[in-house]
Amino acid sequence: MKTNSLRSEINRIKNHPLCKISRNIVIGEGNKKAKIMIIGQNPGEEEDKTGRPFVGKSGKFLNKVLEKNKIKRESLYITNVVNCKTPENRKPTKKEIEFFMPLLLKQISMIKPKIIILLGDVAWHVPRIKGIKYFEIYHPAAAMRFAKFRKRFESDFKKLKIYRNDRT
Ligand code: URA
Repeated sequence: MKTNSLRSEINRIKNHPLCKISRNIVIGEGNKKAKIMIIGQNPGEEEDKTGRPFVGKSGKFLNKVLEKNKIKRESLYITNVVNCKTPENRKPTKKEIEFFMPLLLKQISMIKPKIIILLGDVAWHVPRIKGIKYFEIYHPAAAMRFAKFRKRFESDFKKLKIYRNDRT
């Protein structure tokens, strides 16, 4: 969603060292009137190639769990805390997270979701806004790797499906 109101934020971040080594700055995508927003950590290789969030292995796993719970990906808005890939897919640092945060907050203020699903511990630290319900869930990459986390990830999404109806 590279609308004009995000343009100035995108211009601000594009000279960041992480974005300089990236092919794409990956902004959120999906329903601009979404009731539910999903926030991940930062793009991986596949996302960097395509310029879209959650299209690689984690994204495919997330899609499966969404489908299983009849939550349409197109009804959501999906984005990340940090918009560029990191070397060797390492976790973004606190400083990097702080640098990219204004772009995330801008997307939240534009979409005005009722519910925000935070995937993984980087997203769990997103500042809370009054009036929005937040859910902290494991990152799909962790859920794919460990059976214990996968169970919890799946049961959390099962609980979330009651919120799935579109706002529009
Ligand atoms: N992991 C994330 O946190 N975000 C993506 O977009 C892809 C993988």
